[in-house]
Amino acid sequence: MATLLISDLHLEAQKPEIGEQFLQFLSNDANDADALYILGDLFEVWLGDDDPNPYYAGMKTALRRFTDTGVPVFFMHGNRDFTIGEQFAAETGVSILADPVIVNLHGHEVLLSHGDALCTDDVQYQQFRLMTRNPDWQAMMLTKSLQERIAYATAVRQESVARGGEISDEIMDVNQEAVRALFREYDADTLLHGHTHRPAVHDVDLGDRIATRIVLGDWYEQGSVVRWDENGPRLESLPR
Ligand code: MN
Repeated sequence: MATLLISDLHLEAQKPEIGEQFLQFLSNDANDADALYILGDLFEVWLGDDDPNPYYAGMKTALRRFTDTGVPVFFMHGNRDFTIGEQFAAETGVSILADPVIVNLHGHEVLLSHGDALCTDDVQYQQFRLMTRNPDWQAMMLTKSLQERIAYATAVRQESVARGGEISDEIMDVNQEAVRALFREYDADTLLHGHTHRPAVHDVDLGDRIATRIVLGDWYEQGSVVRWDENGPRLESLPR
């Protein structure tokens, strides 16, 4: 049995091949997993749990069917789907995790994060993140109509793309000092995150020890998964 970790699928109706691969992943790879962790940006844009988007409704149904088989599913917010809330959790059966969080994977204490908070070189984005992760701001946004939320999300995307902050292959990488600070704050040996779309396993020199930073890839061209079993973690790409 293995624990599976994925992130950055960016599911959307306009890219059905990603969703198809995700559904296959749920019914094949993940079927005999002991748990599945989704570390953010499962969806390209989440307007709120009240969004009737039929494509996302289909994905919620698939998640519900999957959690009904008894495999625990944990979800952490990404920068695209940070308004996923309790209604989504109730509908799908997933449990929402804080970011960051330490979990025990087959005897290893592992620090999990989406990863966007580590991209501290993007000062403008960090200001945006601070604002939008505020519960008052989110409550205010969720009182707006879906049309207003779509307009807001579109404007944010355009602004982000215009300044090169988040185009798929130009998305900013993590700041190394922010990474080391997070390792020290949580006294962690292993950090696993997504967001940067740069799948890799890195050694991180903390001075007194070497830690490991595992980065999940996105699902634009193939799947990306960390399979963690009694032999430790393996970062794999899943051919489409
Ligand atoms: Mn992200």
